[in-house]
Amino acid sequence: METPTINAESGVFASELLLRRDRLERAVARNLGDRHLEHLLSEVDAALQRIEKGTFGLCETCGGEIEHDRLLADPLVRYCLEDLTPGEQRALEQDLQLAAEIQRGLLPQPSVRTHGWEVSHHFAPLGVVSGDYCDVVVPDGSDGHGFFLLGDVSGKGVAASILMANLHATFRTLLASRLPIDALLERANRLFCESTIASQYATLVCVKASPDGEVEVANAGHCPVLVRSEAGTRVMQSGGLPLGMFCSSQYPIERTRLDRGDLMLLYTDGVIEARNAADAEYGHDRLLAMFEGLAPETRRDPARVTQACLDHLAAFRDGAPRRDDVTIMAVRRME
Ligand SMILES: [Zn+2]
Repeated sequence: METPTINAESGVFASELLLRRDRLERAVARNLGDRHLEHLLSEVDAALQRIEKGTFGLCETCGGEIEHDRLLADPLVRYCLEDLTPGEQRALEQDLQLAAEIQRGLLPQPSVRTHGWEVSHHFAPLGVVSGDYCDVVVPDGSDGHGFFLLGDVSGKGVAASILMANLHATFRTLLASRLPIDALLERANRLFCESTIASQYATLVCVKASPDGEVEVANAGHCPVLVRSEAGTRVMQSGGLPLGMFCSSQYPIERTRLDRGDLMLLYTDGVIEARNAADAEYGHDRLLAMFEGLAPETRRDPARVTQACLDHLAAFRDGAPRRDDVTIMAVRRME
């Protein structure tokens, strides 16, 4: 997902920096003569001056824009990635690798079987880390109810991956409270609103599946869920606004029932917004046609379903570069 430009956000950065300045000043007063604190204070003042002059977010070497996610993570940065010193570059690469490791640790197993459901996912960041969110949770004492979650945080790179980790922790905590999923999303939305800066939001779909095949879906501005049964394919697309956009939002629950052998497909917009060399979009209709055309032997195995999606997408792109994170989750009710 794209994020708004720096200019629209400089007010947010300014208030954030003023808050830090206040803290620093008090720390300096308590630790007179601390060179490091004094240096930091001067850096904060310099950043505030850049906001005032309208040069905030511009590289001091080349004058180009500094990468947005780096500014979000550290408003004091003054150089774009290309103008870092070799030492700074090495430190950054190590940080990135660590962030990627942490992120991989938050993912569910590639294939999960739980209470009559079989789930497989594919998670492919565009860069080293991703803003996509993907989880499978069976809370203790949930009578075998499973939760399948897929989301997409605005922006890319490290800042987005931090928010992804934030969502992961939020839902892991909330799911233990056994709230209905509409209340769950309402609560997560409020928490996300309160804990992130104004321009950050996330789309997310939450599926609750019971061992007898009943399925509930609540959707916060995310791509619809596709359900395939003997009767045909159903597109479950009712839903509310993305998390973090407005502090009070409501999320209707859509219900359906899956028979044994029926399939669900969850995906992020990196799938449907993929483009080929002729700049045509893959689009929802192509995904739907692929899903409806899956061979019976493919449908029997969720891992083969996610692979079929990826193959179809790769054939369409025909070598054109990827431009977004891609995450796909296939869920099947076991026979
Ligand atoms: Zn530069």
